Amino acid sequence: MTLTRDVVIIGSGAAGGTVAQALAPLVRAGLRVTLFEQGAQLDDAEFTGRELEMANALFEDGGGVLTADGAMTLAFGRAYGGSTVTYTGTSLVPDAHVFERWAIPTLTHADVTARAARYATENGVHFLRDDEINENNARFADGCRAVGLEAGRFPVNTRGCRGSGLCNLGCPNAAKQGTHRVQLPAAETAGVEVVTRAEVLRVGEREVTVRVSARPPGAKGRESTWAPGEYVVRAAAVVSCGGSMGSTALLLRSGLARALPQLGERYTCHPAHILVAEHAQPIVNDVGFPKSYFLDRPDEGFILETCMYFPFITAKNLTGFGADHQRFLDAFPRLQMILVMAHDRPVPGNRITIDTAGRPVVHYTFTPAVREALVRATRLSARIFFGAGAVRVHAPSADPPLLTRDDLPHLDTRVHARHFLTHRISVSSAHMMGGCGMGADARTSVTDAWGRAHGLPWLRVADSALFPDSSDVNPYLTVMALADRAAEALTADLGALRAGADA
Ligand SMILES: Cc1cc2nc3c(=O)[nH]c(=O)nc-3n(C[C@H](O)[C@H](O)[C@H](O)COP(=O)(O)OP(=O)(O)OC[C@H]3O[C@@H](n4cnc5c(N)ncnc54)[C@H](O)[C@@H]3O)c2cc1C
Ligand code: SF4
Repeated sequence: MTLTRDVVIIGSGAAGGTVAQALAPLVRAGLRVTLFEQGAQLDDAEFTGRELEMANALFEDGGGVLTADGAMTLAFGRAYGGSTVTYTGTSLVPDAHVFERWAIPTLTHADVTARAARYATENGVHFLRDDEINENNARFADGCRAVGLEAGRFPVNTRGCRGSGLCNLGCPNAAKQGTHRVQLPAAETAGVEVVTRAEVLRVGEREVTVRVSARPPGAKGRESTWAPGEYVVRAAAVVSCGGSMGSTALLLRSGLARALPQLGERYTCHPAHILVAEHAQPIVNDVGFPKSYFLDRPDEGFILETCMYFPFITAKNLTGFGADHQRFLDAFPRLQMILVMAHDRPVPGNRITIDTAGRPVVHYTFTPAVREALVRATRLSARIFFGAGAVRVHAPSADPPLLTRDDLPHLDTRVHARHFLTHRISVSSAHMMGGCGMGADARTSVTDAWGRAHGLPWLRVADSALFPDSSDVNPYLTVMALADRAAEALTADLGALRAGADA
């Protein structure tokens, strides 16, 4: 079946929701905009907070997509709202030095900050009250003070948070303000059509091929509003918001690598792993908002964040087997956690390709700089844990991986890059960036500074794939700001694009 629209948006996450809402005034004026999302839209009652059930319902491959060499797990969303359904909602804008490093004309810190501030207001970003900070988080701030550092407080985007600690499984209390709560409903009210269970298979010159699927028996989520089947939808403009992995894979399998030779390059992802420390007494850890503090160390190449993960993820992140492994899980009510995250840089070889089925494949090597950064982050975390009163620290880049206070004077040798053994350490990423990087021309980038694909005026990219380098901090507000810029440029160009489509 062939249909016609003015604009097609692919993906409904941080970027897709932003673009859909930004185009809403034009829709009220008669423009036909349809957004296709391959994931499902869940009803509030379907967010149960059960770990495996929700991971399978909301993440691509249950959150366990592996890099080509199997050394890192990549988690990204596949749902109405994309990864914003499962993000924690920590809301930062990178420092000015990040945009200086990116060196994209017109993309300034001031511009991103101003746009991000609008979405921060719209999505309820605020600081938690002191009485909403649980012990797992408070101890991080105490530990930082004990080593002479001051942790930063995360602004977060919740309304009516009940502290269930289940943010990464989709908030069961409708408190977290992702695009599924804010931008998408607003866009739909204005008349933007959102079609779920609709995977865009290919994009061609001013058209997309979409496959709509029926809800599998027993699966969560509503049926699609379109009948199952394959559709060709012609449009004056196609805006790819499938995320770093989704957009890049889509454009690659659509045969656009010849026109856009940089497709797949400049991939970064903030490689991260969880550190766990044991206290002598139970602490409040899995009740309360999970992520309230961070410590950014740009000169040392890492950021530390408080976190509290669920039993399955915690188990996966601990090294060791049998009794040693079990001991830490038995201590769950006494555990404190820190996420250590490296500021990685794009390097040749770290990139997204596709397999024979057109699915994304990430090739990623931990550079010496990333290994060193994660090791430095682990040493500092150990000091913070002990400063907070912990008795034992599980540090995967120590050998053996358990540290006690007696190890404090010897951290530089106990925790060392030579112990950072690929495949032995459980590394994961939830911040996929790049693959369709912005820049000046097609030899070095995929789009211009406003998401226009070089040489293909009808094709726009508006999502995390645009990042030419990592953001160093949690990226969703930057994604929304870039999507806002892309929507602004599209709005300005639409008259010409529609005239071109009619010609
Ligand atoms: C567990 C987790 C925690 C996070 N926590 C934070 C945080 O606290 N703070 C922060 O700043 N960032 C956080 N992030 C990162 C943040 O969520 C992402 O950077 C952001 O959502 C990326 O936006 P996006 O629009 O590029 O992609 P996404 O939000 O991932 O949306 C892409 C959407 O496109 C759909 N799609 C892809 N391909 C197709 C196709 N071919 N056809 C149809 N649909 C398609 C996908 O199903 C998906 O729904 C977190 C991410 C995860 C996974
Ligand atoms: S901690 Fe707050 S935002 Fe997170 S899942 Fe619970 S109620 Fe939702």
